[in-house]
Amino acid sequence: MANKANTDATTSVPSSPAAGQPERAEVGVIGGSGFYSFLEDVTEVQVDTPYGPPSDSLFLGEISGRRVAFLPRHGRGHHLPPHRINYRANLWALRSLGVRQVLGPCAVGGLRPEYGVGTLLVPDQFVDRTKARAQSYFDGVPRADGSTPNVVHVSLADPYCPDGRKAALVAAQGRGWEAVDGGTLVVVEGPRFSTRAESRWHAAQGWSVVGMTGHPEAALARELELCYTSLTLVTDLDAGAETGEGVSHAEVMRVFAANVDRLREVLFDAVAALPATEDRACLCAGALGGWETGIALP
Ligand SMILES: [Zn+2]
Repeated sequence: MANKANTDATTSVPSSPAAGQPERAEVGVIGGSGFYSFLEDVTEVQVDTPYGPPSDSLFLGEISGRRVAFLPRHGRGHHLPPHRINYRANLWALRSLGVRQVLGPCAVGGLRPEYGVGTLLVPDQFVDRTKARAQSYFDGVPRADGSTPNVVHVSLADPYCPDGRKAALVAAQGRGWEAVDGGTLVVVEGPRFSTRAESRWHAAQGWSVVGMTGHPEAALARELELCYTSLTLVTDLDAGAETGEGVSHAEVMRVFAANVDRLREVLFDAVAALPATEDRACLCAGALGGWETGIALP
């Protein structure tokens, strides 16, 4: 990704660039493991946020006539482990460029034998088993600009955008990749993988796949009234669902790399199938209705 970026086009923008600037996008993609070559002919944009810097620069380009911002979730070179990613900065940075709809592909472990390697599952629920992540903008902590966020409780009963999920499922089907429609992503703190006991417990709850980055991305997106859709790619069977030595990082990366091209095609088509920003009619767009937030969203 870094090699493809036009470094001459690298610019720094404030967290709320004026409309009409070229450093704008409407759709965001937060890429997971091994997924750093999403766009060609990109403009690299550095964004600062009240929560510090995001994982990396944002890389802006165009897909089917739509402006898209890609953010390498773990930073280029994959130097950030899941528990050290600045999720608040990442979502804030995307919104500050104009993004209102986010696709979040990530690598997961399958918790059921039928969700084997290469399965694409578009979850409709998640379970948070993380332990130490900033997971809200509304924490009552004064910010550098003098504003203090109020107490706000957004609904997360349905954590993913229904229209985004539909776009992802239709896109996958169009590429001959029958995705699993729905399921529960359990998000663990990491960076270690699960023990066999944990994995069997997760499976026994009826949960579908396990990952390390799905939370708090979806929750933070909702707080910013962003549509968020998770696309999970099974790169291994989790410890409780297989009988061998357990998960290795090398295996995860190998399987993810083998599926990156397929996943990129699905993501391109999903971007094109998303509703126009001004046509959003989903619950996400009005998530803060009725709340006095105390802070201005970018
Ligand atoms: Zn939505």
